Amino acid sequence: MSGVKRVEFDARLLDSLLEASDKNHPDEFFAMLGGSIDAETITIDSLIVVPFEASDSGAIFDLLSVHTCDVIGTFHSHPYGDPVPSEDDLMLFKRLGAVHAIAAYPYTPDRVEFYDKSGRNITPVVEVRYTADEEANNR
Ligand SMILES: [Zn+2]
Repeated sequence: MSGVKRVEFDARLLDSLLEASDKNHPDEFFAMLGGSIDAETITIDSLIVVPFEASDSGAIFDLLSVHTCDVIGTFHSHPYGDPVPSEDDLMLFKRLGAVHAIAAYPYTPDRVEFYDKSGRNITPVVEVRYTADEEANNR
């Protein structure tokens, strides 16, 4: 069992990731995600932009071009099939980040599943909400 107890995923970020998945369809869309981790909660609220090449068989990107320590999670689309990690996905999950989202076509929020480093489905502990808005209101 990993230490992932609670995840807050910014709803606006998820919206834009789903939109990007739709735009890239039928190619796969891949993104690295940033945020913060404390003892209780992993918060994901930003996009780490990285050059990558998409094809219908997967996304190829340059791992060396990002500071991998900043990567809290990943997001990628499955243009065909279910939001279930492939063998390659599981290898990537182990190397990079703590929370991994997979969105399957047609990229609606209910077609997104979340996994931890070991490929365990952690969707039940993920709360999608507008984190950025709340911060702004507290200022
Ligand atoms: Zn995949």
